[in-house]
Amino acid sequence: MSTRHLAFLAAMVVACGPKTKPAEQPVNEPVADKPVVKPKSPEDLFLAECRVGLDTAREILPQILAVEGERTVENTLTLVNDLHVGLSNTMALAGLYSEVHPTESIREAARGCEQEAAQFVTELQLHRGLYDAIAAVAVDPGDVVTVRFHERTLRDFRRAGVDKDNATRQRLQQIDEELTRLGQQFSKNIAEDVRSIELEPARLAGLPEDFIAAHPAGPSGKVKITTDYPDYNPFMMYADDDAARRELYVAFRSRGDKDNEALLAQVLALRDEKASLLGYDTFADYITEDKMIKSAKHAADFIERVAKLAQARAKRDYNELLKELKTIDKKAVRVEDWQKTYLENRVKLKKYKVDSKEVRPYFPYDQTLAGLLDITSTIYDIQYAPVSDATVWHPDVKVFDVMRGAAKLGRIYLDMHPREGKYKHAAQFTLHDGVEGVQLPEGVLVCNFPRGNELMEHDDVVTTFHEFGHLMHHVLGGNQTWIRHSGVATEHDFVEAPSQMFEEWAWSHETLARFAKNGAGEVIPRELVDRMRKADKFGVGTQTVQQMFYASISLRYHTVAPDKLDQLAELKRLQAKYTPFRYVDGTRFHASFGHLMGYSAMYYTYMWSLVIAKDLLTPFQKKGLMDPETTRAYRDKILVPGGTKDAAVLVKDFLGRDYNFKAFEKYLAE
Ligand SMILES: [Zn+2]
Repeated sequence: MSTRHLAFLAAMVVACGPKTKPAEQPVNEPVADKPVVKPKSPEDLFLAECRVGLDTAREILPQILAVEGERTVENTLTLVNDLHVGLSNTMALAGLYSEVHPTESIREAARGCEQEAAQFVTELQLHRGLYDAIAAVAVDPGDVVTVRFHERTLRDFRRAGVDKDNATRQRLQQIDEELTRLGQQFSKNIAEDVRSIELEPARLAGLPEDFIAAHPAGPSGKVKITTDYPDYNPFMMYADDDAARRELYVAFRSRGDKDNEALLAQVLALRDEKASLLGYDTFADYITEDKMIKSAKHAADFIERVAKLAQARAKRDYNELLKELKTIDKKAVRVEDWQKTYLENRVKLKKYKVDSKEVRPYFPYDQTLAGLLDITSTIYDIQYAPVSDATVWHPDVKVFDVMRGAAKLGRIYLDMHPREGKYKHAAQFTLHDGVEGVQLPEGVLVCNFPRGNELMEHDDVVTTFHEFGHLMHHVLGGNQTWIRHSGVATEHDFVEAPSQMFEEWAWSHETLARFAKNGAGEVIPRELVDRMRKADKFGVGTQTVQQMFYASISLRYHTVAPDKLDQLAELKRLQAKYTPFRYVDGTRFHASFGHLMGYSAMYYTYMWSLVIAKDLLTPFQKKGLMDPETTRAYRDKILVPGGTKDAAVLVKDFLGRDYNFKAFEKYLAE
């Protein structure tokens, strides 16, 4: 559940649009300036198309540097914007095709193209001449949007280290390259470290029939269960055999333990060195500085605060789990970590009796998508016009222009069904960042759902709404002068708030009743939706403190001096501090905590966005989720401005006050 925006560029300027962008080249037409002698391969054709933006960016760089005389917005910043539009288009197309194109050789070519563009980004980040050129521009203080673009662009350069001496810049570049390599290795070690346990078939008791059928005994007479999610998740939820669950849990939470602690130590040391070269006390201080949260101290306070707020609820959840455990084992005195999911599921079934077989008939795929399009058209005053002649990478992809009357606001691509070689999760990808007068925003939803009249799980419905929250942000916020303000290009810890908030439209009877109907045409009963909500909420206390445990690992590992950090001891300390579940001997969770690479110290962002998302829902309480006045205000004050203002200011513009924790507290309490 994420948005694949310009993550790679985040450290630098992400903006701009050429006023004369090269025409889009369809995939199957050669981009050639001389006669083509023999047909080019599909890979060559793709690469030619993919490089158009990057080539434009490379051509613009010397033009910026060559400007003589006074530097102005027109002769410098506009070109910088153009450069970034080109770069962004290449990164977006390469990033998308590397994950979704049906042909492996094209996916490979796309990864190559992405690397070429990433190298150019690194070159730009530390380009002193470019920095000096941009710094020399005098911007009219009255033009606040351009002032913001100018200041943030320069700040990102400085955060990369552009103003340091040659030796420091060289070292910073080395560190970044080394970090990329180590990060890939860390993730690879996790992905490749698939462990398994072997069991007598009778020990699968409790698991669904289709799971048991898919796991026949091998020649030894035993069944193999691996630590991969399709095995691990159902096993931890359904297997009645406590010892077997413990064994699989220990295997799962030991992945990566051979090499990853040493790798992580190197990563943390390099990040610490980087922070220190750039003038920060810790890497956590460095990475939080340009986020909503602004400092490592605030992040630590936030974690404490949420953990405290969730404590009572966590205790209640824990006691309920213990009570359930006692129905199985009278003498039980405590619940262990490998029992949590199993007991939680039992409580939910007993108390709320939500069976997915009862829920699924209300959510055929086509009907659900039509409902989502209807809801977003209504609340945002837009229309979706099907496009039949767009270039797509697979016949499954549906394309719509987003219109308001005769005005075209952008384009969306829906690539919603699984196929071989395709990205396995759900995410919103950017194809074009919208820049006023240059290019319209284009976004892509990539999911793996059933098709046609096949039924969806409600979880998948929620995911679709979540990702659509990102997509609407991208499209409606995609009409900016400067590309670095386009769409979802806001602070990293705000990006998930609009999508988490939009999940509510998939949980409310008011909105579900518009489209959730079974084969007999009956609307989903309100009573069923109530039970679904309650079941979903059970365990939110223990889950929240668990999240704060993870967030604190992420933050503390980037705060403690690397030579003083005992990774395992710190993990044990934090687990005891935040969660009611004991550390389980033999596990080394941090060795497979993949987020430590991509998110570094910022795992807190998930919960932070949720706090904001809950607050953003408060104005809807009076008149409901479809109220035109409230939805339009939300659209215009939160989504449309994109990154032109600080997220805290956008939130204040919409709420009429600063954000606070009250709605989140209520969510935890009820
Ligand atoms: Zn998301």
